[in-house]
Amino acid sequence: NELEELKKRLQDAKLSPDAEKVAQRELQRLQKMNPAQAEYQVCRNYLENLAEIPWTKMTADQLDGKTLVRAKKQLDDDHYGLEKIKKRLLEYLAVLKLKEHANRDIDVEIKALTESETPTELQDGEDTEAPKEPSHAQLRLLEKKRMVDKSPILLLVGPPGTGKTSLAKSVATALGRKFHRISLGGVRDEAEIRGHRRTYVAAMPGLIVNGLKKVGVANPVFLLDEIDKLGVSNYNGDPSAAMLEVLDPEQNHTFTDHYVNVPIDLSKVLFIATANSLDTIPPPLLDRLETIQLSGYTTLEKRHIASRHLIPKQITTNGLHSENITIPTDVLDKIITSYTREAGVRNLEREIGSVCRSKAVEYATAKDMEALDNYNPIVTMDDIDATLGIEKFTEELTEQHARPGVVTGLVAYSTGGQGSILFIEIADMPGTGRVQLTGKLGDVLKESVEVALSWVKAHAFELGLSASEDVDIMKNRAIHVHCPSGAIPKDGPSAGLAHTIALTSLFSGKPVPPTLAMTGEISLRGRVLPVGGIKEKLIGALRAGVERVLLPEGNRKDVRDLPEEVRQGLRIEFVGNIWEALGLVW
Ligand code: ATP
Ligand code: MG
Repeated sequence: NELEELKKRLQDAKLSPDAEKVAQRELQRLQKMNPAQAEYQVCRNYLENLAEIPWTKMTADQLDGKTLVRAKKQLDDDHYGLEKIKKRLLEYLAVLKLKEHANRDIDVEIKALTESETPTELQDGEDTEAPKEPSHAQLRLLEKKRMVDKSPILLLVGPPGTGKTSLAKSVATALGRKFHRISLGGVRDEAEIRGHRRTYVAAMPGLIVNGLKKVGVANPVFLLDEIDKLGVSNYNGDPSAAMLEVLDPEQNHTFTDHYVNVPIDLSKVLFIATANSLDTIPPPLLDRLETIQLSGYTTLEKRHIASRHLIPKQITTNGLHSENITIPTDVLDKIITSYTREAGVRNLEREIGSVCRSKAVEYATAKDMEALDNYNPIVTMDDIDATLGIEKFTEELTEQHARPGVVTGLVAYSTGGQGSILFIEIADMPGTGRVQLTGKLGDVLKESVEVALSWVKAHAFELGLSASEDVDIMKNRAIHVHCPSGAIPKDGPSAGLAHTIALTSLFSGKPVPPTLAMTGEISLRGRVLPVGGIKEKLIGALRAGVERVLLPEGNRKDVRDLPEEVRQGLRIEFVGNIWEALGLVW
């Protein structure tokens, strides 16, 4: 009767025709086997897996008249700011909804067509069961349906803690669909994604099928977390190729898991991927994804996120009520600037959690001793010192003295999406024209130093650095270029302008104020070319206490999209060539 039960479950699971065939075969084998045989368990396990896969079961989609209104509300309720991203997500949902309708219409057409084409005289014929060749008109409709079915797969890319996972969750909630997170970080083995063949001992289905089994419906939202950390091709197969099959709308209605070994339709699954950077995603995979970029938050945005979302969340998590604890704005600002330095808000949430916990202890103790009158719900600066320890970050710039040869540059780290300032230090010493570079500088950065040096050498006379046109200013000296922090690798051409200004400053003995920062690539002819990561760089600059920034003329358009706070907080000036930059520095 164990067999009977299994049979019944397989029936209830409404297997696909392919799976049905396999199931029947395996059931027959099972009946002939002795339960003591090892093979018996393997076979039974397999059939149980088949029964657990949601072949047709779906959550009734809430793509009704109110979906978009509801989705907008959900996204707004859960997240502060991110206007562009929310707008893009809503567009996506709107298209999804329209497609759903189109699909329904096509289904109706197909049905009508099938009925009109079924000859009535077949009714008493012997062969009503035989599959009929689909007609040309039917094929056309099916093809159309497949076109409509293709929806782009979204990729949310941005620094840690900026709300990617949480946005994807909101989308699932708004649609009323089941949500499942698949962590791809560190998946090295193709079999983890598509399972092991059944001939292996203890073979199991892969992550995708397990996910389907877990949610129990064929149309969940799958979050493919950290797709950028997916392992590359190696002797265990190619995980990214398996992923490609999962994501490609041309292939994913017949996805094959090695264990299950019959095609599974993934086309109803809504995939949303997240990544911290695009650099490590294999190009064919990236090609199938539609990227939505998130960038870091400014201090002001963080303050709003904290007071609207993080603090209420942490208060509840720690068993407090909102009247038990108040974090004043100046205290919150202190936590943001002195205890966290990140693009997102994850550490901020953690620090707020610590503060809430310590208040919870205080409150509980006061309650136990029946001394609630002495309990102060307001968090003070002293509380912060006591719970969070000494300040982790201090503003670097205020301690800097202006010295010739030192210039404040700007960097945007590709991993982490953080922007920050970077000091470029150049020193000279007696020597024979040697250039030494330290601070883990990449090849492109090294070359940009050479370009800067060549330009300065070529214009030494005009710059007033040498007495006549034909004197080599490097003749009896050597220079050393260093970029702290020395252990963090840096690359890219965007420090070219800063190097040029630093060299000019060194040779002329005129210092550059540390609160003046700059970024820009230079050409040998002295043009200043646009660079990337402007938003991250400027947010980092503002945080570090920079007051003035020189940017390439070509980056004017990037500045228009910046948060108000950044545009107000920095004096931003644009330069088209080095001469203009020099004119603004001195
Ligand atoms: P990772 O790349 O590390 O996975 P992530 O982008 O997925 O990071 P989340 O886990 O989504 O980050 O966000 C971290 C926390 O910050 C969550 O609690 C999330 O709700 C909160 N958060 C992030 N951005 C916002 C926002 N704009 N409004 C409200 N809460 C936010
Ligand atoms: Mg995440």
